[in-house]
Amino acid sequence: MTAGPIADSPAGPTAGPPAGPARIVIAGGGLAGLRTVEELRAVGYAGAVTVIGAESRPPYDRPPLSKQLLAGAVDDTTLRAELGSLGADFRLGERAERLGDGVLGTDRGEYPFDRLVIATGAQPIALPGPGRQRFLRTLDDALALRDRLVPGARLVVVGAGWIGAELATAAGARGCRVSVVEAATAPLAGAIGAEVGAQTAPWYAEAGVELLLGEAVESVQDGGLVLAGGGWLAADEIVTAVGVRPAVAWLESAAVKLENGVAVDEMLRSSVAGVYAVGDCAAFWSGRFGRRIRTEHWDSALRAPVVLAANLIGDARRYDPVPYFWSEQFGRMLQHVGDHRGADRLIWRGEASGPRWAACWLAGERLVAVLTVGLPRDLQQGRRLIESAAAVDAGRVADPAIPLRDCAR
Ligand SMILES: Cc1cc2nc3c(=O)[nH]c(=O)nc-3n(C[C@H](O)[C@H](O)[C@H](O)COP(=O)(O)OP(=O)(O)OC[C@H]3O[C@@H](n4cnc5c(N)ncnc54)[C@H](O)[C@@H]3O)c2cc1C
Repeated sequence: MTAGPIADSPAGPTAGPPAGPARIVIAGGGLAGLRTVEELRAVGYAGAVTVIGAESRPPYDRPPLSKQLLAGAVDDTTLRAELGSLGADFRLGERAERLGDGVLGTDRGEYPFDRLVIATGAQPIALPGPGRQRFLRTLDDALALRDRLVPGARLVVVGAGWIGAELATAAGARGCRVSVVEAATAPLAGAIGAEVGAQTAPWYAEAGVELLLGEAVESVQDGGLVLAGGGWLAADEIVTAVGVRPAVAWLESAAVKLENGVAVDEMLRSSVAGVYAVGDCAAFWSGRFGRRIRTEHWDSALRAPVVLAANLIGDARRYDPVPYFWSEQFGRMLQHVGDHRGADRLIWRGEASGPRWAACWLAGERLVAVLTVGLPRDLQQGRRLIESAAAVDAGRVADPAIPLRDCAR
């Protein structure tokens, strides 16, 4: 079995099973870090596990922050009330700062390891300027923001991506006056392309949200934004939602190879023997798509640790997912599966002006990605077609009356 390439790394790391009781250290106490501990215990690993988590809160779920929590339906999204039952040493409020040879250095001490898992996730990108900008990444961010979403408040969201759209949905429903400023010509252009993303633009106006497209922000000032064209947009609160970067700055002087995150192979092994990465900070080699992929998907942080835990104790399993993501915005459920970057054709299923439709991306005769709006069945069937890499009949794919599963040649 050959693992995917770590570009430029010589022969690839070859860490064998740990001799004797191994010490596994995990940097990052988010979903991917927690799931790694759970899966290690599930595969029978009884050795020492230490989790170094920069946040002082126990691991919690992020997707509800921009949905149920902002809507007021929940106040807490903690994932596991009882961390003690995992028998791991959770060191919360402690930050990983250095990676040496077999030792992780933090702001409090040194942790020798036999295996290290880097699961430090991602952090929001800030805009220039001295004014106050909020973000929506942590539970504390969400709780503080919710307090500000009062009727009549002028909220400006910078970025019409997934988080920006969900925040605009929640803020509009809470009676705020919401403007979303987006540099691209369509919402979600970076994630699903301008042509498909443009279909979501009317949803903003329907929800009473102002959407300003093609407007780059120059700087954040007290009380508003300076736009690149010189305009001024006044705001009581500004939330910057222009994307995230993998939280790997602390590794810049380490030997581990970085390539839009920690570069890992199909077995989630980095360029340094015994060091692995998972979740939002990991750019893994996808054999299926023939490229390095870094997702910012809850599903990846949930599932990749199944493969990772097996490999940490000496197995050689491949991580070969069809990436999956969902978003709830403006009363609609959007689901995306696959990777459309290698696609050469876009096929619509149904009218994008209607309540239910799908966009299907093909590379040659193969389906490589599907976005569905209110069509969970298409999503499931599309996922299976992508997984099987079957050739599809493009004419049938374009007919929403034909189930996607019946479109394979
Ligand atoms: C508001 C919001 C809504 C979302 N909605 C969806 C959705 O609808 N669908 C979907 O698929 N995905 C969604 N996501 C994405 C999903 O939550 C992430 O993909 C997932 O949280 C990734 O998990 P992770 O453990 O890799 O990273 P994280 O959740 O970022 O956890 C990493 C942890 O490591 C900590 N850390 C960072 N640096 C260090 C360090 N140096 N030392 C120690 N600890 C460190 C961080 O503080 C953090 O607690 C959403 C994300 C957000 C923020």
